[in-house]
Amino acid sequence: MGDIKELKQVEQYANQCMKCGFCSFFCPVYQEERVETSVARGKNYLAKLIIKGEQGFTPEMAEIIGKCLLCKRCAANCPAKTQIDRVVVAARADMVREKGLGFIKGFVFRKAMANRSAMGRYARLMQTFQWLLPKTAGNVRHLPDFIKSMGRRNFPELSRTFLRDRVKSVYSPSGKPQMKVGFFMGCAIDFVYPDLGFKIIDFLVRRGVEVVVPKEQNCCGAAVYFSGDFETGRRLAEANIKAFHDVDYIVSACGTCSSTLKDYQKYLPDNDDMQKRYSAFGEKVKDATEFVIDVLKVDPSTLKLKREFEGKTVTWHDPCHLVRYQNIKDQPRAILKGFKGITYAEMPNADLCCGMGGSFSVYHYDLTKKIAAKKMDGIRATGADIVVTACPGCMINLIDNILHNGMPQKVHHLLELAE
Ligand code: SF4
Ligand code: SF4
Repeated sequence: MGDIKELKQVEQYANQCMKCGFCSFFCPVYQEERVETSVARGKNYLAKLIIKGEQGFTPEMAEIIGKCLLCKRCAANCPAKTQIDRVVVAARADMVREKGLGFIKGFVFRKAMANRSAMGRYARLMQTFQWLLPKTAGNVRHLPDFIKSMGRRNFPELSRTFLRDRVKSVYSPSGKPQMKVGFFMGCAIDFVYPDLGFKIIDFLVRRGVEVVVPKEQNCCGAAVYFSGDFETGRRLAEANIKAFHDVDYIVSACGTCSSTLKDYQKYLPDNDDMQKRYSAFGEKVKDATEFVIDVLKVDPSTLKLKREFEGKTVTWHDPCHLVRYQNIKDQPRAILKGFKGITYAEMPNADLCCGMGGSFSVYHYDLTKKIAAKKMDGIRATGADIVVTACPGCMINLIDNILHNGMPQKVHHLLELAE
């Protein structure tokens, strides 16, 4: 059995568990599977066995450790305040150190995602050949039916032109800038939703902010280090810290990216120096929704609604990485309620995970669909025309499940609604 390093550093969280089972009422995976290893209590127990050397990283254990959305619903409702995300991610990291990443993840994380220009080339190649995939509707395509193992999955097309290829390095406001902000693109906005990136840059510049978009920035690393590849995660963290060294704030319009950038200090440091640098970097990071309300102090009632949304009923989905990782829930609602011309309808269980969970949805797509079915019930109950959120990952999963369920709703990023 290999050397257990990361799990030992978070052992206190596993030890805090008092086995009350309260988490089982909140865990979306447990609610579907009803097996003890799905829920935080079972995972904490197994983590302690691994630390003691009584349990190895067997294929069964890999399956158990992988089957967690990292949604933190258990942690948010745990009376002992255990942090299962820390325990699960540490277990994945120790497993990767002992067993390696495997060919596909190794290639994707270390050859593609860790190298921004290589990632751009692979994305360009995929964009060129995506016409081979059948269209579902509009600019959404799906996997062909013969790839049964992956399901008939719908996803938005890659953009014809990527944000990185069109964006300038600096955008200056007309007067003296009140601050300098680095815009963090993130992979989804770069490759799928570049117009959203331009929209946010424009929104900030019109409010007196100088926006810089460093070309050296890289992927935030969420998929990488949440899968346990801390080595590549640290490379990505260093690249981003270097790219954004001279700005007042770093703003991202993706809830997962903003949370991931803030949390380098929580998961990745290997020594005090790293801890200090990751913490200093994380303090500058703001999600776009919190930046608009808490830093720019925009009065939501002054926001102008884009004409195409006038008269619509709109509901809000809380991304896990916004509501539980960053405690951001009031700011997006304040923005939405400020728009004149829409009706806001609060969704029942708005903070329920949509089932995406990054690579969770790749390996457990059937489970993702079952978890998403509850989210679809919530959306239906609102009678909304539009589902709004602030995480492109959630947007992709919501679009997939809305189409699968034959529902009429359109999905948008919150800031797309603003003129
Ligand atoms: S709610 Fe917390 S303390 Fe209770 S069993 Fe779950 S993880 Fe343990
Ligand atoms: S993080 Fe989410 S999926 Fe994982 S154990 Fe907790 S509630 Fe379940």
